[in-house]
Amino acid sequence: MKVNNGKICATCGTQYPPGYLQNSCLICEDDRQYVPDEGQQWTNRATLSGNHHTVVREIKPRLYEINLQPKFGIGQRALLVQSAAGNILWDCVPLIDEPLIAFIQQAGGIRAMAISHPHYYSNQAEWSAQFDCPVYLPETEKDFVVYPGDHIRFWKGAGHDFWDGIRVIRIGGHFPGSSVLRVSGISKQGTLLCGDTFNLSPSRKHFSVMYSYPNKIPLPVREVQRIRTLMASLDFDEVYGFWSYQNLTDSAKSVMLQSLDRYV
Ligand SMILES: [Zn+2]
Ligand SMILES: [Zn+2]
Repeated sequence: MKVNNGKICATCGTQYPPGYLQNSCLICEDDRQYVPDEGQQWTNRATLSGNHHTVVREIKPRLYEINLQPKFGIGQRALLVQSAAGNILWDCVPLIDEPLIAFIQQAGGIRAMAISHPHYYSNQAEWSAQFDCPVYLPETEKDFVVYPGDHIRFWKGAGHDFWDGIRVIRIGGHFPGSSVLRVSGISKQGTLLCGDTFNLSPSRKHFSVMYSYPNKIPLPVREVQRIRTLMASLDFDEVYGFWSYQNLTDSAKSVMLQSLDRYV
């Protein structure tokens, strides 16, 4: 396993390069996140792997979620999309362990990674080195890449096409480059993996879209209207968010549009 000893922010799970000496996390200092009352807290890979392990679960054929147990940092899941021309890892979790490497290798490896927004950049440098794959990020967020590594490829504009009809689509809102991954062929009309570009409520009847979720900072109405127009133009019937419960497999587009209409 390829391991580095860069320190990891205990609040958001972002890994910094070896030799990073500052006692602040760029992600947590940003007004979309927060530094805990007790101040900046750090951990490292050895501590993390001693206290946590990865868990893989099949959501449906060709779609797997990867979580850490017990929860760490923000607690987002990563999603592995299996596809004929190559697998894509969507979003990222802050730990890789041997059972996870073995699972991913037998599933066909990772041809590319794409990440919805900076809160989940996590230890992408370690993942991309381990699986020798590029990491596709929007150029708008390059200042948030605290550990560039050797595998980043920035995309510009409205999105980036992969293969087998898979496309990362820039939505904006939470971050200027907040995006969703649209996957064809695993549901009738298209599947969106949305990170927290949209946050599906526990009732699964409402999506929220915010500048900051933990700090409850809303977006301007005109921005929600722009996002609504964009979402109306996309074909999809399923949405998978960043928590394990956020699987909406029925009428996802109408739930999305009705949710956005409530803001206006
Ligand atoms: Zn942080
Ligand atoms: Zn976020």
